[in-house]
Amino acid sequence: MTTQQLYQLYLQHPVISTDTRKIAAGSLFFALKGDKFDANTFAQQAIAAGAAYAVIDNPAYQLGDNYLLVADVLTALQDLARHHRRQLSIPVIGLTGTNGKTTTKELINAVLSQHFKTQATQGNLNNHIGVPLTILTIDASHQMAVIEMGANHQKEIELLCTIAQPSHGLITNVGKAHLEGFGGVEGVKKGKGELYDYLAPRPPEGGVSSPGGVTFINSDDQTLLDMAAARKLSNVVYYGTNTIDDLVSGQLIENSPLLALEYTNNKTGQSYTVKTQLTGAYNLHNILAAIAIGSYFNIPAEQINAGIEGYQPKNNRSQIVKTASNTLICDYYNANPSSMFVAIENVGKLQAPRKVLILGDMFEMGPESAAEHASVIQKALDTPVDERIFIGKDFAAAAQSIDHGLWTMGQNTCYATAEDAIAALKASPITHSTILIKGSRGMALERLVELF
Ligand code: ATP
Ligand code: MG
Repeated sequence: MTTQQLYQLYLQHPVISTDTRKIAAGSLFFALKGDKFDANTFAQQAIAAGAAYAVIDNPAYQLGDNYLLVADVLTALQDLARHHRRQLSIPVIGLTGTNGKTTTKELINAVLSQHFKTQATQGNLNNHIGVPLTILTIDASHQMAVIEMGANHQKEIELLCTIAQPSHGLITNVGKAHLEGFGGVEGVKKGKGELYDYLAPRPPEGGVSSPGGVTFINSDDQTLLDMAAARKLSNVVYYGTNTIDDLVSGQLIENSPLLALEYTNNKTGQSYTVKTQLTGAYNLHNILAAIAIGSYFNIPAEQINAGIEGYQPKNNRSQIVKTASNTLICDYYNANPSSMFVAIENVGKLQAPRKVLILGDMFEMGPESAAEHASVIQKALDTPVDERIFIGKDFAAAAQSIDHGLWTMGQNTCYATAEDAIAALKASPITHSTILIKGSRGMALERLVELF
């Protein structure tokens, strides 16, 4: 079965299923392989559940005409998405970066969807499977798409770019995450930089040259500016806090704990004030990115502002939850040293009567793990808050290396497990506080929320 043949079937059956528990009637089922399963074995079940066709790569499971045999199911899915994208003549905005991809993607989509019919990555489906699946949800009615691209090793963004073929792109930032897979921060720069590589003009290759795409760059971020300069990007739009070249420049005017900002569209000279439902000073650039993209596409400022003001995070990223006795900053979706630092700094600056940090271990840190956990502890100790709680075996190990005198200044505790922390917090509950809760996904710190 060739990509062309598969594409013809996709045009008649444009819904893709990959999970036999959620088969859409008349869909194309792709029998992907996971760590623990081989979906070839579920193909028959998918057909029985209503899939029109099952795409498989093991002939042993080919039980009739509606079983489509390909060499490799994942490659077939990616090739189909790549081919579909080529038929679409709409702007596709690709974004990657260490932190803030999903938030920025949601904000960009909130702005663009005020004015255009858009499609965007659902949740965090940003990998080698999620990107093709997202591309395959774009149909002729869509005018724009916003695609989140995640990576934890080299060449991943390059592959995702060949599938999504972004005409416009943005790297939110480059920091310390997935250091293990990328091979340190320089590796992260290189890996994320594959998006800039794709957006740079290309000389003729097989007779086809590319004028390059439009790159949106945070002009306050020297690392991104350096990465862009190294690639001779032809079409760059800047946003930031105060550079004359910015299309949009803005600053925070309130962080209590929700953010408000003031920005100027330097093309029109008009300034606006926007109140948001996000917390965290680090979100300023995520918001400015969305405003810059909306302005670039000439969306009226009233619509841009309505898009930003209406965006309410419900995804445990910089989300404020008020309980009977506390204000929680729920940021336990993930954590790495870069996002820990900015989240801690943000709490340090908040105007609140009593402030608490609850920080869980950061995963996938490789050989730097011990030093990075120690530096987060140090950062927390240096930040003016009333109480600090560290949770996890990596923090517990790193705490040993901290000067005892520093550790005993203020109210600081370290628990080796979340269970220990929960028991202690049940025995002496925290009240009347603003509490940041942040840790890696695997720490599942949402378990703590009911305690407050
Ligand atoms: P993932 O790699 O899991 O897809 P992501 O890049 O999509 O993550 P988000 O889910 O938007 O990022 O945000 C995760 C956390 O990163 C936020 O809750 C916040 O703590 C932090 N964060 C968001 N934006 C920034 C930023 N611009 N700089 C630093 N940290 C940020
Ligand atoms: Mg994400």
